[in-house]
Amino acid sequence: MSKYTKETIMESAKAEGVNFIRLMFTDLFGAIKNVEVPASQLEKALNNQMMFDGSSIDGFVRIQESDMLLFPDLDTWLVFPETHGKAKVARLICDVHMTDGTPFIGDPRSNLRRIVSEMKDLGFSQMSLGAEPEFFLFQLDEEGMPTKKLNDHGGYFDFAPLDLAENCRRDIVLELERLGYEIEAAHHEVAPGQHEINFKYADVVAACDKIQTFKLVVKTIARKHGLYATFMPKPLSGINGSGMHSNISLFGKDGNNAFYDPKGEYELSETAYHFLAGVLTHVRSFTAIANPTVNSYKRLVAGYEAPVYVAWSPSNRSPLVRIPATRGMGTRIEIRSVDPSTNPYLAMAAILAAGLDGVKNKLQAPAAANDNLYQKTDAELQARGIYALPADLKEALDLLNESDLVKSALGEHISSKFLKAKYEEYDEYRTAVHAWELKRYMSLL
Ligand code: GLU
Ligand code: MG
Repeated sequence: MSKYTKETIMESAKAEGVNFIRLMFTDLFGAIKNVEVPASQLEKALNNQMMFDGSSIDGFVRIQESDMLLFPDLDTWLVFPETHGKAKVARLICDVHMTDGTPFIGDPRSNLRRIVSEMKDLGFSQMSLGAEPEFFLFQLDEEGMPTKKLNDHGGYFDFAPLDLAENCRRDIVLELERLGYEIEAAHHEVAPGQHEINFKYADVVAACDKIQTFKLVVKTIARKHGLYATFMPKPLSGINGSGMHSNISLFGKDGNNAFYDPKGEYELSETAYHFLAGVLTHVRSFTAIANPTVNSYKRLVAGYEAPVYVAWSPSNRSPLVRIPATRGMGTRIEIRSVDPSTNPYLAMAAILAAGLDGVKNKLQAPAAANDNLYQKTDAELQARGIYALPADLKEALDLLNESDLVKSALGEHISSKFLKAKYEEYDEYRTAVHAWELKRYMSLL
C-alpha cells in the first residue's frame, strides 16, 4: 500500500510551501536525470502527464520516437529540508513510460520491477538490499575542481584530528536523517580520505532510490565543506578502493526471511544456498554491470580487501560472498564485488535474476572457502573449481555478451545499448596513452 496518494501529496506540497518539484529518473549508466517543474504543474505530473525528450538521454530512444512520459512513484515524495535560495523543492522518483502508457523497456528502474515481479511469481514477497557505498573526499582547487589531494590521513575507525572529515561526515549524516534515512553507522574507512556511511536496508527498488539520493547528498554536502566526494572505485593506486557491498536477502509471502533456517548449515536455508549458487554461477557474467568502468578493475586486485575470486565464506572477508554473523530476520548474503560506479537498478536486476536461476534450478553451492585464497596458486584454486573475476572491462563485456541469463535480466534494449556504449568506452581507454606508459617507457626507449 502506498504511503501517499495524489491528494495527500497535493496537500503536503501546499502545507510545506513547495515551489518546485524535481522529477527524477536514472539513465542507463547510473546518472540521475531530473526535470524540474513549478508547483502549478504538480497535479499534471501526478497524473503521469509530464513529457520529456527521451532521445536526449544516453541509451534511451531514437529521435523519431523521442517523446516519453514520467510516471511518479508516489512513495518517493520527499520535501527537501533546505531551501534553495527562496525556493522550497520536493522530489518524486519516476518510472519512464512510452506515450501509449506502457513502461519503457530501457528504463532501469522499471526493468528492476520486472525482475522483482518474476521473483514474486516464484512465491517470494520481497528482496531486501542493504548497500554500503564507500567514497573518497578530495580537496577542491581555487576553481572548485577536484584535485588529487586527499583531505586527511586517517585510517579505519580513526578519530579527529587524523580524521579531518569528521565534521563533513557528520553534516552528511544529519542531512540524510532529515531526509528520512535511518543511519546505522558512519566511519572513516581503511584508506586515507575514505569514508563509509551505512543506512538501513530496504526493499530493493526503494534501496536503489536511496543509493542514488545518497550519492547526491554526499556530493552536495562535501562541496559545502570545500571537498569533492567521489564514488570512483579506485581513485588512487596503492591504497584500498571503494566498494559497494550489497547485503541481500529474500522474504517469503509469510513475511519471514527465506534465507534463514536455524537447522541449516551456518543457519542458512536451502533457498539461500540455491540463491548463492546462482550468484556464484553467473557473477562473472554480471561483473560488467556490477563493475561497469575501466577503473572498476583496478580495484578488483589482491591486497586491498576487494574480491578477486569467485568463492564464498561464512567467516573470512577475502571471498566474493560473505555471510555476515547476523541471523534470523537479519540473515543475508553480502556480495562484495559490486562497486559504487554501478547503476544499482541494473546490478540488482542482474543479481536477482542470477539468484533466482539458482533457486529455480536448485543449483548447488560449492563448499565454503574458509582459507586465505590469496596464498594459493591459480592451479590450486582451479582444482577446487575457483575462478577469478574478469580482469578488465573487455573480458567482463565479452562474458556478459555470452550470457543469455544476464542479457535477458536487462532486456534486449538495455543489454545491447549498454554493451555498445561500454565497448566504445573500453576502446577509447585501449587506444589512449596513459601517464603510466610515459613514465615507464619514455626515458627508457
Ligand atoms: N574498501 C574495500 C573494498 O574495496 C572494502 C573494505 C571493507 O571491508 O569494508 O571492497
Ligand atoms: Mg567498508
